[in-house]
Order: sequence, then C-alpha cells, then structure tokens
Amino acid sequence: MKLNEFDNITKQLAPSPLMPVLFVGHGNPMNALWENPFTQSLKKLGEEINLIEKPKAILIVSAHWLTNGTFVQASPKPETIHDFGGFPKELFDVQYPAPGSPEFANQVTSLLTHAKTTEEWGLDHGAWTILKHIYPTADIPVFQLSIDYAKPLQHHFDLAKQICILRERGVLIIGSGNIVHNLRLSFEKFSINDSKPYDWAVEFDAWIKSRIDNRNFDDIINYEKAGKAGPLSVPTPDHFIPLLYSIALAEPNEKIEHTYEEVSFGGMSMRTLKIG
Ligand code: ZN
Repeated sequence: MKLNEFDNITKQLAPSPLMPVLFVGHGNPMNALWENPFTQSLKKLGEEINLIEKPKAILIVSAHWLTNGTFVQASPKPETIHDFGGFPKELFDVQYPAPGSPEFANQVTSLLTHAKTTEEWGLDHGAWTILKHIYPTADIPVFQLSIDYAKPLQHHFDLAKQICILRERGVLIIGSGNIVHNLRLSFEKFSINDSKPYDWAVEFDAWIKSRIDNRNFDDIINYEKAGKAGPLSVPTPDHFIPLLYSIALAEPNEKIEHTYEEVSFGGMSMRTLKIG
C-alpha cells in the first residue's frame, strides 16, 4: 500500500491543523523524576501544542531503538522499557501507561517501502522520560519508529520526508536524542564534579544552531565539516540521527524555535526545538 491508498484511508480522519514537530535533547534518564528548567520547558511545550490541537497520536524516533531494518512499534499497549542500568529503583518504578496506536503504526509502515510493524519493542527511555513532562496524563496513543543503524545520515533525512503527511493527520512527531552526546568525556568531568562544558561541545552546539537557523540542513547531514568538534560531539551517530528526522519535516520557511538550550555534564547538549 503506498501513498494514494494511504491517503484514501487517512482522509476518513478529520484533517488537522499542521501539527508541530519537536526535537528533544533528552539527556540523563533521571530527568523523568526531576523538576528543573529543562523539564519545565517540556511541560510548557505540551501546553502550547494543546492550544493548537491535542495530538491524535505521538510518534517518537528515539536514539535508543537502533535496528537492522526499519520497524514501527504497533503494540496496542506498549510496555515501559527501563533500558539502562545503575539508576535508583525509583526510576525503574516509573511507568508511562499510554496506549499504543496500531492504526497509525500500520499507516506509517504503508508509507515506507521496507518498514515492518512489530510488537517486540515498547516505549524506551528516549520516549517516556520526556513524555512524562510533555504529556503527564499519558492519555495520547504513542508509538515508535526505529532507526536503521546501518544506513547513512542522508537516508534518515530522506526517510522522514516520506511520513510528512502525518503532520496533517494530527500526529505529533518527536525526535529524541542529543546534538552533542559524548558520555565518556562527560563522565570524566562528572567524576571530578566539574560541570563546565567542554569548548568543543559549546562550539559544535552553536555550529548546529546556526545551520538550523539558516536552514543549511546539508551541513548538518555532513557535520564532519565542523572540524574536530564534530567527532568529539558525535562519537557515534545514535543520538544525532533523531535530529535529522525532526528537521527534515520542517516546511520551507517554517518557524523553528529553540525552546531550551544548555550544554550539561561537560559534553551533552540539551538543545530542544519546536518546528511550527
Ligand atoms: Zn539517550
């Protein structure tokens, strides 16, 4: 089933105002429990979006679901996955009991040539640690799209464009990762209680911000142009790729707002964007 058939199905749904798209720098999983300026900014985002229209469903592209091939989570009741170790029991006790959306999951699969639905995943911490603040009541259906980790960055940018119609059908799409994400060097600072950001982290975060503001998405896909700050900030692309999904969905000249910015733990950018 491809676009025409998809549209025949989805036009049965009432058209919605163009849904915004978010990119959230999720950072430390403990943010699920914390109240701080970052989590307060997430709460405000949820309230702002509801003023336009409450989403019919939320699609998350998380840095923590890396697969061989592309999968869409289609469980009617996705489980809350605690995909980390070394955190307090309090964090393992957190549940985000939102329903899934098999209907929208099947529609996403129909739009993407090689994607398959699965019920084997649930909601990982890239999803629920931020949704706890954006939509604390967990009453909007949530599903996830995996990242085919063998594919180049351009693939992800192009793939996102194939699902842009979801914005017109009431689906809130959220990329959840971090623009700068160097855990090894962040832990070095953390172990000596030094919270000052690395120069290269501040430089790369600002470099990406300027490319977002100038709509130079080609530079973002080819971030190695940023010099040595690039590989230090993106030692592996897992947390960077969700950004590509979010920016690819921006309409030409659509407003992109930086709703939160901070480089925390030395080498982790919490930069968060609202498109539209
Ligand atoms: Zn993460």
